[in-house]
Amino acid sequence: MKKISITKQVAVVGSYDVVVVGGGPAGVLAAIAAAREGAKVALVERFGFLGGMATAGLVMPLSVFTYKNQRVIGGIPYEFLERLEAMGGGYIERPLGNVAFDPELYKLCMQRMVLEAGIDLYMNSYLSGCTMGENGEVTSIIFENKNGTEALESKMFIDCTGDADLAAMAGVPMQEQNGEPLQPLSTYFVLADVDTSSPLLFEAMHHNKQGENCHCLPIREYLLEHAEELRIPEFGGPWFCTTLHEGCVGVNMTRTEGDACDNRDYTAAECRLREDVYRMAEILRNNFKEFENCYVAAVATQAGIRETRRIKGVHTMTADEYISGYQYEDSISRGAHPIDIHATKGNKQSIYFLEQAAYVPYRALIAEAFPNLLVAGRAISADRKAFASMRVQASCMGTGQAAGVAAAICAECGCGVKEVDVERLVKKLREIGAQI
Ligand SMILES: Cc1cc2nc3c(=O)[nH]c(=O)nc-3n(C[C@H](O)[C@H](O)[C@H](O)COP(=O)(O)OP(=O)(O)OC[C@H]3O[C@@H](n4cnc5c(N)ncnc54)[C@H](O)[C@@H]3O)c2cc1C
Repeated sequence: MKKISITKQVAVVGSYDVVVVGGGPAGVLAAIAAAREGAKVALVERFGFLGGMATAGLVMPLSVFTYKNQRVIGGIPYEFLERLEAMGGGYIERPLGNVAFDPELYKLCMQRMVLEAGIDLYMNSYLSGCTMGENGEVTSIIFENKNGTEALESKMFIDCTGDADLAAMAGVPMQEQNGEPLQPLSTYFVLADVDTSSPLLFEAMHHNKQGENCHCLPIREYLLEHAEELRIPEFGGPWFCTTLHEGCVGVNMTRTEGDACDNRDYTAAECRLREDVYRMAEILRNNFKEFENCYVAAVATQAGIRETRRIKGVHTMTADEYISGYQYEDSISRGAHPIDIHATKGNKQSIYFLEQAAYVPYRALIAEAFPNLLVAGRAISADRKAFASMRVQASCMGTGQAAGVAAAICAECGCGVKEVDVERLVKKLREIGAQI
């Protein structure tokens, strides 16, 4: 392939204690947690709003905060839920603790909490590179926006891009896929003018059952039976979720294979999925009375990404550790979603419900030779099965909160991520409400 080289001067527009890249569930919590510990924090996000998959992907509900009647994710993530609920933008399903939400109010609530914490927000800014020092430290991140190419310097960096973009740019080794296919991509959509008061939909929209798949079984069985005759594209579920507005339902049922870290692959998948959204809406409209008047009110800004890169950290969480509820010395958060692996092709899903909530070690958030870089959210160091549970929003918020506190401690002490005082970190996390 022909290559060109470019040289350019880049303006350093800020200098911080902690820079967080990615304003999704992990990144927002990381930024707030670091700022509340007294760090000077910047948050860089490619879209003009916060929330990541929850808002850009319309991924509903937020799961899992409570397991077997015990809170497993607490602290700032739970404060976010309560604020969202108080704004009329969230509904905490009790006792399970999954949370249905209005995606627009989710964006607003996160934005308010970020600005109240005194964080400098760089929106519409796409991370495009980083510079490295002699000792494996990230010295600055580079991003693109309407001002041109800009850079931020910082003592500490937290990668919350979901895809480990910053870690990959810095040269952090990634988990091998070992021939296993990536979980499929799915574009969520919202249907309006739906009969949401019907018993079938009411039951399907409320994800409040412990230990059961929440898909809508009667519709699934009908679709499987008539797949050929109705020319149904590949689908999963379907899962329906209330957006808290009468007549509106969030739908998760499209699926296709693709690698979201390969631009051409992801582009082709986006196009296939957009066609499938309208085909699925038509199938629902023509076959189920609850949907007979429905129309597509919104399609997610981006196709939902279940799985891409994960770092190879100082410790990689294994399924055995995860399932047995192994309590690490450096446990900093929890996970309680089932091990939930969607087949890349076809409509199957392998789902394993945990006996007890799992723990997450701090060492899964850091890599061996990168002294000022942490990773939180979907891209932490876990094997494929442990990851398949940890990828949900509450767990991502939990690791975000921990990464933020750890980064603030490192910035204050001037130490590297491996030298952080773990006892102090764990004590602080407990004080702010983490259930560890
Ligand atoms: C189909 C599907 C169903 C799911 N179902 C559920 C569910 O029922 N419950 C649940 O809780 N979770 C569910 N999830 C998982 C969950 O939504 C995500 O795994 C979670 O949001 C990951 O959080 P994160 O903060 O790590 O990453 P993300 O939410 O992906 O946030 C990453 C942020 O970084 C930004 N970003 C990325 N790259 C760059 C860059 N280069 N420069 C600047 N910014 C960048 C993005 O715009 C985004 O805001 C589902 C996901 C999918 C795809």
